[in-house]
Amino acid sequence: MSKHTRVNEDLFDQLYAPVNYFDLTNIEQGRILQFQQEILQLVVLGKDYKAICEKVCLLMEQLLDNAVASVMLLDKEKQCMNVFAAPSVPEECIRQLNGLRPGPGTGSCGNAVFRQEPVFIESTLDDPRWQNIRQLAIDFNILSCWSMPIRSKGDECIGSFALSSFEHRLPNTFHRKLLEIGSFIAGIALEQQKMNEQLYLSSKVFENSTEAILIADASKIIVSINKALHKITGYAEEEVIGKPVSIVTSIRHGSNFFQKIWQSVKQHNHWQGEVWNLHKQGREYPSWFNIIPVRSKNGLISYYLINFSDITDKKKADEIIWRQANYDSLTGLPNRNMFYERLNHDIKSATRNGTGLTVLFIDLDRFKEVNDSLGHSVGDALLVEAAKRLTRCVRETDTVARLGGDEFTIILNGISEPYQTEKIMHTILLELAKPFYLNTKLAYVSASIGATFFPDDASSVELLMKNADQAMYAAKNNGRNCWNCFTSNMRTASEVRSKTAYELRNALKEEQLFLLYQPIVELKTGNVYKAEALIRWQHPERGTIYPGEFIAIAEETNLITDIGDWVFKQAVNQVALWQANFNAGFQISINKSPKQFIDKMGDWVNHLNERGLDGQSIIVEITENLLLDVHELVVKQLLNYRDAGVQVAIDDFGTGYSSLSYLKKFDIDYLKIDRSFISNMDSQSNDRILCEAVITMAHRLGMKVIAEGVETDLQQQLLIAMGCDYGQGNFFSKPMMVDKFEAFLQQN
Ligand code: C2E
Ligand code: MG
Ligand code: MG
Repeated sequence: MSKHTRVNEDLFDQLYAPVNYFDLTNIEQGRILQFQQEILQLVVLGKDYKAICEKVCLLMEQLLDNAVASVMLLDKEKQCMNVFAAPSVPEECIRQLNGLRPGPGTGSCGNAVFRQEPVFIESTLDDPRWQNIRQLAIDFNILSCWSMPIRSKGDECIGSFALSSFEHRLPNTFHRKLLEIGSFIAGIALEQQKMNEQLYLSSKVFENSTEAILIADASKIIVSINKALHKITGYAEEEVIGKPVSIVTSIRHGSNFFQKIWQSVKQHNHWQGEVWNLHKQGREYPSWFNIIPVRSKNGLISYYLINFSDITDKKKADEIIWRQANYDSLTGLPNRNMFYERLNHDIKSATRNGTGLTVLFIDLDRFKEVNDSLGHSVGDALLVEAAKRLTRCVRETDTVARLGGDEFTIILNGISEPYQTEKIMHTILLELAKPFYLNTKLAYVSASIGATFFPDDASSVELLMKNADQAMYAAKNNGRNCWNCFTSNMRTASEVRSKTAYELRNALKEEQLFLLYQPIVELKTGNVYKAEALIRWQHPERGTIYPGEFIAIAEETNLITDIGDWVFKQAVNQVALWQANFNAGFQISINKSPKQFIDKMGDWVNHLNERGLDGQSIIVEITENLLLDVHELVVKQLLNYRDAGVQVAIDDFGTGYSSLSYLKKFDIDYLKIDRSFISNMDSQSNDRILCEAVITMAHRLGMKVIAEGVETDLQQQLLIAMGCDYGQGNFFSKPMMVDKFEAFLQQN
């Protein structure tokens, strides 16, 4: 080893070995002590980090002539260094230093951070470690510069502390001690600052949290609370500090409840859940609790951090949402959703207990007519009242639900025998048949009920519902205002229905449909110059099918429009022939279902014109209820008929809800009194009076009357006596094929 290196090594040891206080003179030690005292004072006074660092710089400068001190810090990305405190360094110099990238050529500070070790440079003007920022040294006359890395608590390099001199020199032991202390203090101050900031933030969170926060010691005694706790519990700080946590909770939870909670906190280091609290004023309220234990180094719980919020509003909102999803807003009954849930649940418990249950499906008869004629608000009121009556018919353990519209369902728990169910269904029918007094209006409805039994008929929710629906449908077909229990035949019936719909599509194409004609007799003279066309379906397997079995299906499947057009054209051909061969004024009346009016405008009048036939050749039979539904297309078509001379008859008059004003408005030509009134006419004087009244009223309004379903001579005589214009029915003739009808005409 040469002498030269030997000297350098000595210098190295001298420069980089840690400095002991013994290496310093008494005076130097004294100066350092005083320096430390002054800094300590600043720390105690809680001065902020920057102020402390600046003070360190100034004190350093006092201890080292002809030099300036500076603190530079690495940015967050640990890429660049910026001047943090350098009270004596000119601003321009600071500006140029900022953004310094640690590296082998970026001066003493850049190197101290780059190498993570002290860097003492005696001559900045020729040392290669200053090559990138040499101009700075020249411009600001920095001739030597010593820099020490600043380390965080985790020993990570976060910046540098430097002394730059305006003369060439290296630090002696005293200077190095100063540098060590400077960088150390800067490190601590920064660390402290970070902690203070965190503490400050935590305290802000604690204070300003909208959730109540309390800290309890290991024996669950409250030691600290925040403002929100006072607001939520009503207790002031002095009222709860030193008290057990249970001061804020309700006594409705037994001690067992809390024991489990504390156990869970201990085991899982966390617990959260709903707890009922007791407000200072005595009011109970639901809250959401969060408990976290704070453990000391030995793992024992020393504190509990508890926060909670009042969830009354949230629970209310949840409750509203839940109600909306599960209950019918009009009647307050469970809705479909809730009903299915309950049925599911009840089936399970019936299975468990080996018991049974009944599902009822209830549909109000003629509700639509009440709704249409008296208005929707009356309709709504009726539903509300019906719901109340239904609820009164069953026990509290049963469920009454509204599926929608006028459909209700009931679960009768523990009842699976028809005889028990029958009694309840009977009561329901009686209750619903009673008059409804609704906002000064009076309405009558009845109900059709279908029943099915678990477990006998089915065991799944879906099948039970299907069964009950089919049984209800059967009750409707049996004439309404009655109940029906499900039988397996019904399943077949509904299957037949869907098969019929399928086959009906072919019936038109395959020419399976045909018309019969029933004479309409002028009662005064016995003359026949009108006939009603009635459709039949010649089914290849089932034989002749009556309209009662397929018109409704045709309506449901929209086939009615095509079928109706076919009927019309068929009737037009026929009327043309009969006008030519029998009577120039012959008329054929055809039935037109409401659906046909709504589906499309129809071009029947044009068709008549093209055939050169008078509008009067055809009478269109409509039902009363069509007039209630003032659909724009209905109005247009009826007025169109009137203008073209096509006559209009109200079919089955007396069974629907008629409004006389409508009859007048649409220029109705005929009222066809429903068969039910005619058949009762001889035995029930009420119906006789009714018929007479209808006839008189119709005549006053300029309408003619046709009596439907005349079956006896007595009926004919009575009708003649009342002045009824026409009669139609088996007494004169059943509906006939064309050839028979022609023979009938000839006889006539
Ligand atoms: P509607 O228009 O009231 O026709 C009268 C119904 O009463 C016919 O039944 C007829 O056969 C029956 N009838 C006539 N006289 C008597 C009698 O003295 N006693 C009894 N018990 N019944 C009698 P049908 O032919 O079964 O027709 C039933 C319903 O089907 C018709 O009632 C009508 O509303 C509808 N309909 C018939 N043909 C068509 C059609 O082409 N299109 C449409 N949309 N509906 C039709
Ligand atoms: Mg008719
Ligand atoms: Mg009729």
